Amino acid sequence: MKDSKGREIDYLRLSVTDRCNLRCIYCMPEEGIPLVSHDDVLSVDETIQLTGIIIKAAGIRKVRITGGEPLVRKGLLDLLRGVSGHHPEELVLTTNGLLLSGMAPQLAGAGIKRVNISLDSLRDDRIRLISRRDISLEIIENAIASAFDAGFGPVKVNCVVMRNINDDEIAEFIKWSGETGVTVRFIEHMPSMLSDDTFVSRDEIIERASVLGKIVRQDDIGTAGIYTEEDTGLTFGIIAPFSDPMCSSCSRIRLSARGTLYTCLAAAEGVSLIELLRGDSCDETISKLVRETVMRKPDSHGGCVHAKMWRIGG
Ligand code: SAM
Ligand code: SF4
Repeated sequence: MKDSKGREIDYLRLSVTDRCNLRCIYCMPEEGIPLVSHDDVLSVDETIQLTGIIIKAAGIRKVRITGGEPLVRKGLLDLLRGVSGHHPEELVLTTNGLLLSGMAPQLAGAGIKRVNISLDSLRDDRIRLISRRDISLEIIENAIASAFDAGFGPVKVNCVVMRNINDDEIAEFIKWSGETGVTVRFIEHMPSMLSDDTFVSRDEIIERASVLGKIVRQDDIGTAGIYTEEDTGLTFGIIAPFSDPMCSSCSRIRLSARGTLYTCLAAAEGVSLIELLRGDSCDETISKLVRETVMRKPDSHGGCVHAKMWRIGG
């Protein structure tokens, strides 16, 4: 459907859990997040039902499964099979990759077509520092290989750029992407537990990439600006919610694991659908509320984004 600004809203980011097996310094507090009771989270059946209502009500074509970490969600494969049954044109997933090697074939069998993998450094000591867990590049490279084996190509790798933490690795990441066959996308850090001084802008990311040669902008893909180094043809993306917000063409809405619908990263409060789903409301009542909520999608995030990415899926 089109919202009140004429934007085509056809992309649902579906967060299937708040929980995660990492504690990335820019996303979650070290002690983790307050645990919610299972009753406050949509069950697998409720997630499938509500996703179906939203897909029909808003005319959603693409569903991205996210979290928290989606691969830790109990009953994920049933959930995916149910969502696939609503026949979105694209069903894709974003993961930290930790559990991907053991699950990739089953995910493909349940309907996943592509995966994005998050990786913020190519150095083991920094991976451990950023994720606050004892993991390594090897685990993520194995996850990437399993993603290709399962037919999830093209595989995109998302890297949040942080000053004095990993911002000296931009050129290295671009060269590595050429070697591994993934597309790397650098993400501007959005406000979090880290100080604002960690922010690195799109222009600075391009400047760091320029040590490789002349960087030329291509046509955008979704929310990412696409750039190529002229001589080598190495290509990378930049997702720049601040330098290049792309709000005027934003096609996204988000459903949290608690059954709350958000239409923008700026929305601290969403519209809760869980009580309606569990109450006497018919599908048409929920559909109407979904459409009304989409119509009220803000013009832009205005630089004020929601800090709880683990709740609304980044
Ligand atoms: N756990 C999965 C993962 O890490 O890929 C999926 C959920 S995570 C919230 C989705 C994306 O949001 C990841 O690529 C992560 O790097 C990004 N993200 C989380 N917090 C962020 C922040 N403060 N600024 C920019 N990106 C952020
Ligand atoms: Fe977990 Fe993803 Fe947040 Fe890292 S970015 S803590 S992997 S939800």
